[in-house]
Amino acid sequence: MEFETKAIHIGQEPDPTTGATITPIYQTSTFTQDGLGKHKGYEYSRTGNPTRFALETALASLENGKYGLCFASGLAATTTILCLLKSGDEIVAGDDLYGGTIRLFNRVFSNFNIKTIYVDCKDPKNFESAITPKTKLIWLETPTNPMLRLCDIKSIGGIAKQKKIMLCVDNTFASPYFQQPLDLGADMVVHSTTKYLGGHSDVVGGAIILNDKDIYEKIKFYQNAIGGTPGPFDSWLVLRGIKTLAVRMKKHEENAMKVAEFLEKHPKIKKVNYPGLKSHPQYELAKKQMSGFGGMISFEVNGDKEATKKIVESTELFALAESLGGVESLINHPFTMTHVGVPAEHKARLGIVENLIRLSVGIEDTNDLINDLKKALES
Ligand SMILES: *Cc1c(COP(=O)(O)O)cnc(C)c1O
Repeated sequence: MEFETKAIHIGQEPDPTTGATITPIYQTSTFTQDGLGKHKGYEYSRTGNPTRFALETALASLENGKYGLCFASGLAATTTILCLLKSGDEIVAGDDLYGGTIRLFNRVFSNFNIKTIYVDCKDPKNFESAITPKTKLIWLETPTNPMLRLCDIKSIGGIAKQKKIMLCVDNTFASPYFQQPLDLGADMVVHSTTKYLGGHSDVVGGAIILNDKDIYEKIKFYQNAIGGTPGPFDSWLVLRGIKTLAVRMKKHEENAMKVAEFLEKHPKIKKVNYPGLKSHPQYELAKKQMSGFGGMISFEVNGDKEATKKIVESTELFALAESLGGVESLINHPFTMTHVGVPAEHKARLGIVENLIRLSVGIEDTNDLINDLKKALES
């Protein structure tokens, strides 16, 4: 079955009790039992809920994974994975990560004596050199946020396999429509379903998808034991979102490509980061490991912080906001917004400078978006 069909049908059969075509929102915390030890597969909604289960099944199939588990946020999913580690263990992570993931590694799990070593993710050899006998997990995000750099999942997966270390890939930016890390050798995929999977900026959620039964059973135990689970309505919103993921992603990409080309030619722009541009230093890798380049762009403006501020405050269609992946276009200043909590030295190393702007290109009309940016750049 192809991706578009799976997104609409897998896990989403008509409701067995009523025939409802669309999976109902089972807004209940508990389930009445027929007798002691006799229940219909559900007991309590933290442990399992039919609406959440439909979403877990659908997401697993979209990532070509056997198992899916959903969470109340992307960070709740990440937290649950980190609970597989023990005091003294180490994580080797790509250095260009979602700001909240860095904060979780550096300011929460560090308190439990779990150390994270960050490496430049462009060269797989950097991961290999940072591995010690204590390394238990490699953590990647690709394309990265906000610099849109790529990590070679297949090469890093090979290193992880050889050293018997788990590899987890945060696939939020590409979405399973454009990239399937499990097929490239990752052990686990993590998502903030808040972004492209939900797709309408109306829900916060997370997910983990994987193939290994033992790790699945451990994470499923932690999902229930820790309790960072999503409610039925939030699960339903994400399930509704993924039905249109394929058509949305195509339009996000079409618009992003045209916006990136427009920005690249504009005299006020110093540099554009988009994996679909031939000028991107990893364009060949992008073509190899992704089936499309996504809807995220970042760019540097010629000029100082004031000039940058003026641009992000002048767009009308691109709303000045954090988050990404919704149908509406957003503009963001990583230095003071999404990445404000990242240590200054870390920001400098990555190139998160004061004149960097990030766009989440929505699915509005292409020309309207370009005209909006054109006006803002001329203001
Ligand atoms: C938003 C985001 C997260 C965190 O997800 P939440 O749902 O906000 O907790 C993790 N990784 C990436 C790449 C993100 O964009």
